[in-house]
Amino acid sequence: CGIIGIAGREPVADRLVSALARLEYRGYDSAGIATLDHGTIQRRRAPGKLVNLANRLSLEPLEGLTGIGHTRWATHGAATETNAHPHATPRVAVVHNGIIENYRSLLVELAVDGYMPTTQTDSEVVALMVTRWMDLGLAPVAAVQASVSRLQGAFALVFLFHGEDHLLVAARQGSPLAIGYGAGEMFLGSDALALSLFTDKVTYLEEGDWAVVTPESADIRSRAGASVNRVVHLSNASS
Ligand code: GLU
Repeated sequence: CGIIGIAGREPVADRLVSALARLEYRGYDSAGIATLDHGTIQRRRAPGKLVNLANRLSLEPLEGLTGIGHTRWATHGAATETNAHPHATPRVAVVHNGIIENYRSLLVELAVDGYMPTTQTDSEVVALMVTRWMDLGLAPVAAVQASVSRLQGAFALVFLFHGEDHLLVAARQGSPLAIGYGAGEMFLGSDALALSLFTDKVTYLEEGDWAVVTPESADIRSRAGASVNRVVHLSNASS
């Protein structure tokens, strides 16, 4: 339902939760974040209100300068901790807004190669697909591109990767996603309000766009892979 991503220079865990609080107005049933702690993916998730996630984090804090967060409005799978986003394997973590319509047939393909889901969601299939491509030797960006090209339905996706401390990759089709430009930090969010704590310089990804985001830069590409320029707006959502 709500997405935030930060490729930062300062710790991100608290900032991810603060940004998710700005998205509470959309409604949600669970929430979670993942960060890269010295190259390793770490997650905290909790069903119910954001305060449950915040309480988890105060008991078990997360380090890291790069992270993603999600408030979930369940469409496939009950509102449990297991089904809360981010979904992850040791290689990749992902947050997803929308519905992957063909997730069942994709899961059947993955099962042939031994990639089995651990949740009841449609979203987890995306993490498994990217993991499979990376196991086959593709770099993160190529693995995302190969996976996203197979997805049917509506999605905004943001990924982070084991061993890639300063990298986020995003893709959109049918669900909005915006890039926020900070000072030496970059942000991704499902709307300008999610980004409003950090920046008022916002670019909206267009249909089929995907993006390679680091603390210094956002490289936006069309579905075919060509780099494209998208207009930077000054949002008035910040306060
Ligand atoms: N379809 C996904 C799920 O049920 C994402 C829902 C959302 O947009 O929050 O987990």
